[in-house]
Amino acid sequence: MRILFVVGYICIHLKILATEITCPHCRKRVQELHQVRPILVRDLPTFGQPVYLKVPRQQFYCRQCQKYVTQQLDFLSWRRRYTQRYESYIYQRVLMSNITLF
Ligand SMILES: [Zn+2]
Repeated sequence: MRILFVVGYICIHLKILATEITCPHCRKRVQELHQVRPILVRDLPTFGQPVYLKVPRQQFYCRQCQKYVTQQLDFLSWRRRYTQRYESYIYQRVLMSNITLF
């Protein structure tokens, strides 16, 4: 993990340790890494600064299914650009606010 302090926000570079995944189609273990595409996702703020995580999304190739499979991460919902705990944080802030929607 590497932490980068930039004016206006903090960026934390993550490293994924898993070297294999379970194919969701055939349930076999897959180790053939096809590509790694880093994405930026919003996380809980710290030190009064917004925080972004640079997450390397790993895509594997399943020879049995002949399909590319993107690794799912526990803290990140599919196609979301923010962590699940950031989503809960925003939800709680909205609940505690005095804003009423009509
Ligand atoms: Zn498969």
